[in-house]
Parts: sequence; structure tokens; C-alpha cells
Amino acid sequence: MATIRLEVVSPDRGSVLSKDIDMLIVRSTAGELGILPRHARLLTELLPYPIRIKEGASESLVAVGGGFMEVTPEQITILADSAELPEMIDVDRAQAARKRAEDRINAHKSSGKESLIDIHRAEAALARAKARLLVKNIPVN
Ligand code: ATP
Repeated sequence: MATIRLEVVSPDRGSVLSKDIDMLIVRSTAGELGILPRHARLLTELLPYPIRIKEGASESLVAVGGGFMEVTPEQITILADSAELPEMIDVDRAQAARKRAEDRINAHKSSGKESLIDIHRAEAALARAKARLLVKNIPVN
């Protein structure tokens, strides 16, 4: 069966993943996308969320903290703001980041003191933390 090359890179970690896969499922700003071998060319922005990698009967997850994805018929390249394989993820750190972000968002809702830019940053941090927890199979509601 045909496969498609997947390359995931991040500024901090360099190459996080480089392998031939059967299918990739991502959340882009335009919705959920499934990418199979010989997909049409595409350039899109990714949301902070786990990417799902299918190889044969198995499926694995990688936490992506947003970024860009370029697809050609032979290759998928993800230029991620951050990316972690499951074994790279520190769950306590992600839980702490999640709590910090939720506290900021709640403080904004009750007092309105934090600026909209801070809220946007807190929401993005919350989405990154949730993506990491989901990759570790921890429900995030
Ligand atoms: P934190 O507030 O805990 O730093 P963050 O979402 O602000 O989290 P990022 O700016 O997305 O962190 O990432 C900075 C670097 O830290 C990246 O290399 C990323 O892979 C790594 N990183 C962030 N959180 C974790 C985590 N929970 N486990 C492992 N690596 C992490």
C-alpha cells in the first residue's frame, strides 16, 4: 500500500518525527483534515491539538502546539510552534500550565482586569496544555 512521508519539526526540538505513514488526521483552522498518500497540494494553519498518525492497524498521537502544515502528494511537513511525542511530555508541567491558564481566564471573566491580549495568550496556552494531556490519554473535558 502507498504511504506518505511525515516530517514534524519544531524550533526547540528540531526534527521530532520523520517516518512513512498511512494517514494523518489534524485539526486545521478550516476544520479536521485527513491526509492520505497522493493528497492534493495544500498549505494550512494547524490548531493546538494532537495529530493522529495511522500506520497499519495502529494509531499514535503527537502533541502539536499549532503551526503550519504543507502537503504534497508524497510528503506532509509540519512546522510546529511546539511538538512532543508522548514520551517527551511532562504531565505535571502540562497540568500546571493548564491551571495557570484557567486561573487567568477565570480572573478575566470575574474582574475584566486582564487585557484581551493576555486572554488570547492564556487561551492558546490552555489549548497547548490540553493537547499535551490528550496525547497522554488524560481527559480534558
Ligand atoms: P509552559 O508554560 O509549561 O512552558 P508552554 O505551552 O508555554 O508551557 P511552549 O512555549 O509551547 O510551552 O513550549 C516551550 C518548550 O517547552 C517546547 O520545546 C515544548 O516542547 C516544551 N514543553 C512545553 N510544555 C511541555 C510539557 N508539558 N512536557 C514536555 N515539554 C514541554
